[in-house]
Amino acid sequence: MKKEIDIVVIGAGPVGLFTVFEAGLLGLKCVLIDNLDKVGGQCAELYPEKPIYDIPGVPFQTAQEHVDALIEQIKPFDYEVFLEQRVDELLGVKKDDQEFWSVRTNMGNEFITKNVFIAAGAGSFEPRRPPNIDDPDKFKDKGVTYAVRSKSTYKDKNVFIFGGGDSALDWTIELSKIAKSINLVHRRDAFRGALHSEEQMRELVSKGKVNLLTPYVIEDIFGTSSVTSVSLKNFDTKEIETFDADELLFLFGLNKKLGPILEWDIELNSKKIKVNTENFETTRSGIFAVGDINDYPGKLDLILSGFHETTLAVQEAYKRINPGERVPFGYTTSNSKLQKKLGVLKD
Ligand SMILES: Cc1cc2nc3c(=O)[nH]c(=O)nc-3n(C[C@H](O)[C@H](O)[C@H](O)COP(=O)(O)OP(=O)(O)OC[C@H]3O[C@@H](n4cnc5c(N)ncnc54)[C@H](O)[C@@H]3O)c2cc1C
Repeated sequence: MKKEIDIVVIGAGPVGLFTVFEAGLLGLKCVLIDNLDKVGGQCAELYPEKPIYDIPGVPFQTAQEHVDALIEQIKPFDYEVFLEQRVDELLGVKKDDQEFWSVRTNMGNEFITKNVFIAAGAGSFEPRRPPNIDDPDKFKDKGVTYAVRSKSTYKDKNVFIFGGGDSALDWTIELSKIAKSINLVHRRDAFRGALHSEEQMRELVSKGKVNLLTPYVIEDIFGTSSVTSVSLKNFDTKEIETFDADELLFLFGLNKKLGPILEWDIELNSKKIKVNTENFETTRSGIFAVGDINDYPGKLDLILSGFHETTLAVQEAYKRINPGERVPFGYTTSNSKLQKKLGVLKD
């Protein structure tokens, strides 16, 4: 399939999704491409049921509710989503004497566009596996998980959470409400997560609601068709202890794989794409990088930062499609096109 479109968005995470909204306000159409089997990026893949508290005007939303709200918000606009395909190639092409980009996926689709938005987050990501364990994936979804897809999986179970960061702390607190027992396992008695989360976790420990196992590392996993127990090694004493276990949740973070992005001849800063903060264009004209994938002085990997970035980048994309024209600016309350689409205004 070959298609021409105003904006190709690589990555259908929250920032990719919101790009459709901002582009739609200016009458621009997008296609979204993602190598996952669903939209929502990290929110949908890594922490769908984790609460988010820092979306402006939304005091509380789970990550999946946030994604669902973004999907609802872009409903008035025409866009297409191509899932389960990775963008592998990005090539400059000429058409009618004008410069375009050709974006090709590993499924043989090609998109011709003036504007490429790389909203690729951490790149293609894979959860880090536990060290020292041969093939932990033989128990995947049979007692071994790397993300919480549904809290019900852990209900009334003996759960062991491994890790020392925010995810491990957040899920220890959250799942302690429903699990039969919660054991937090970490190789040292110091955590990298938010201080208030650590304090909450330690309070649960003092109330006997969480069993904190430090300094321990995993030694082995036991079971036939599913996990039945786990052995842990005490880092100090070197003693090995075995515990009954139903669910082992490994939250060691992600291996970020930039993969094909490294080959697109775009200037990088470490593993992120360098952009200017005026319009979030990369060092190549017409290629923008928005959301977690980009880097600039003061960058914060937060959803709201990505929303700001893509709003400005879309303005530049409009100028590239309509050279010399002023970018229309107006509040959404006075955007008659949007209101007609929402059915608030009649034709
Ligand atoms: C546990 C955890 C908790 C968090 N909590 C919060 C929070 O409370 N508040 C907050 O603001 N932020 C939070 N964040 C950060 C937030 O999730 C990110 O800032 C946000 O997801 C970035 O969105 P994005 O659209 O830039 O990228 P992502 O969400 O990473 O989406 C990028 C998408 O691009 C796809 N992709 C990559 N390369 C390709 C390719 N070559 N071809 C096709 N597709 C590709 C990936 O599959 C992915 O779906 C949290 C992150 C984690 C891990």
